[in-house]
Amino acid sequence: MKRAIFPGSFDPFTLGHYDIIKRGVTLFDEIIVAIGVNSSKTYMFSLEERQQFIREAFKDEPKVKVTTYKGLTVDFCKANNVEFILRGLRNPADFEFEKAIAHTNRDLAAIETVFLLTSAETSYIASSIVRDVIRNNGDYTKLVPNSVRVK
Ligand code: ADP
Repeated sequence: MKRAIFPGSFDPFTLGHYDIIKRGVTLFDEIIVAIGVNSSKTYMFSLEERQQFIREAFKDEPKVKVTTYKGLTVDFCKANNVEFILRGLRNPADFEFEKAIAHTNRDLAAIETVFLLTSAETSYIASSIVRDVIRNNGDYTKLVPNSVRVK
């Protein structure tokens, strides 16, 4: 069974994340979308809301599971029999950042990181920009799946 983790903050989940997972399900038997919990960070959406947004978006896709985790991604992988880390690449800055993390993870454990290039239509979308649009009462609905709504 080919199992991958798609780790991230997902604050909030965007059409860019959605695109990577949709394409990832054609490569893996199971994708665990894992929301990393970092107690020193503050988030716009609660952990429960972030989980709910992703669950709802993939309610008809049994290959996609949603969970949360603390600590190192490689430790989560070892504990849950996950062999692959799935990440999206939007631009050269993402590449530089992801390259260092992927090398480190491979030093720490025998885990391969698989990168998918983002689709042209969603490559400009970032959670930080979505948060800015929301804070300033803009129309964020074009940037996120229908399951993501501000209460
Ligand atoms: P992190 O805090 O780990 O960067 P994010 O929630 O921002 O968490 O992103 C999780 C993953 O989704 C990362 O691999 C990131 O590159 C990818 N990603 C973010 N935005 C997009 C997008 N618009 N298109 C494709 N992948 C994206």
